[in-house]
Amino acid sequence: MNVVGDDRAGGDWRSALWDAAVSQFEGAAELLALEDPIRERLGAPARALTVTFPVRRDDGTVDLMTGYRVQHTLAVGPTKGGIRFAPELTLGESAALAMLMTWKCALLALPYGGAKGGVRCDPYALSGRERERVTRRFASELVPIIGPSSDIPAPDLGTGEPEMAWFMDTFSMQHGHPVPQIVTGKPDVLGGTAVRREATGVGVVEVAERVLERQGRALAGLSVAIQGYGAVASALARELDRRGARVIAVSDRRSGLVREQGLDLAAIDAWREEERFFAGAPCGETVSLDDLLQLPCDLLIPAAVEGQITEANAPGIRAGLVIEAANGPTTPGGEAVLRERGIPIVPDLLANAGGVTVSYFEWVQDVEWYSWDAAAIRAELRRKLRDATDSVLDRAQIGELDWRTAALAIGVERVAAAVRLRGIYP
Ligand code: NAD
Repeated sequence: MNVVGDDRAGGDWRSALWDAAVSQFEGAAELLALEDPIRERLGAPARALTVTFPVRRDDGTVDLMTGYRVQHTLAVGPTKGGIRFAPELTLGESAALAMLMTWKCALLALPYGGAKGGVRCDPYALSGRERERVTRRFASELVPIIGPSSDIPAPDLGTGEPEMAWFMDTFSMQHGHPVPQIVTGKPDVLGGTAVRREATGVGVVEVAERVLERQGRALAGLSVAIQGYGAVASALARELDRRGARVIAVSDRRSGLVREQGLDLAAIDAWREEERFFAGAPCGETVSLDDLLQLPCDLLIPAAVEGQITEANAPGIRAGLVIEAANGPTTPGGEAVLRERGIPIVPDLLANAGGVTVSYFEWVQDVEWYSWDAAAIRAELRRKLRDATDSVLDRAQIGELDWRTAALAIGVERVAAAVRLRGIYP
């Protein structure tokens, strides 16, 4: 039942994504035989804020907008997670994504709990000036619960460097001095870090390469279909191309572009400079988003939005391996079908963890007012992701678990240990 705001205890968080996140967590809790108080504590977000605020549009009219920020756990350190601008964002979706961030940070041994939030709006329908006003007002609304030692936002769907720059400026103006540590994903000159822009995409490739290595295979020469061509997907496509894989498909939110022999990414980038959508691009054949997911390929990488691989289309998926670059792209029904068909999934909390890992490096550099060079960041990112991948694959092997359950078990176990040791206040 996908009820938003039903009146049972915890009903406020309900959403399809929340139900999926909780059922995954419950599975891990069961496996770890977590004691009830800790299971209940981690099964609900620690803190949430819902705000409404007016935004003046360029034509002089005023829209009332709604925004959310959910902090899942404050047990291990400040919370960390993206801010998205999306037309269907809800409190329940933010809560689910915040919980997922907790396990992801714990899996990578980062000293953070998870958070997520954003503004319910269509970023494609806002001008640049309108996006700035939305960002600045939302940042002001969040001041009571965010801070460099309490909650550090980052970009997510529909937001990027300009929004993070406005966010940092707004927070800094309210505090009377520059506070670059308040957000990550900033432009370089504002305390951003080398590699952050491509971190999530590069990280997906590092994880994929390690998984394949453990199977005695190489990435070079494999065919890859990617859903999306946003921040994550485009960086990922370039990195795959650089390492010799063949990117055969990418997409926008309307349709996909396919070329069996491999796409010319430079030509796609050139097309995107002039046009918003791929339909009609001479770089490949136009296909529907569903057909893209069902292309025969070695690796299928959903890198756009959640809920894309479902019970309905999973029977037609012809990939050897699914790698979740997006958050929550596989529904529980879709996952069950893939499991039955023997198609393994590299779960989001491992596959896309490169983003938050380099965000962590950015925050550490800002806190220390000392910056690292790109080579050092790439090397440290690679080391952390390969270690995390090994720990997930080892845990899966030992416990005869699928990779998502193994990754969750590692994350949940670490956070549960922190909660247990801290005890209950007062
Ligand atoms: P983005 O806004 O830059 O790109 C989103 C992509 O999704 C675009 O290609 C867009 O065309 C496509 N899209 C939008 N709506 C769609 C729909 N309804 N159906 C199909 N495609 C659609 O966002 P991004 O930062 O690249 O994030 C993509 C995913 O990766 C999200 O799930 C996000 O949570 C996750 N993620 C992002 C980061 C990061 O560093 N940006 C880190 C970890 C995870």
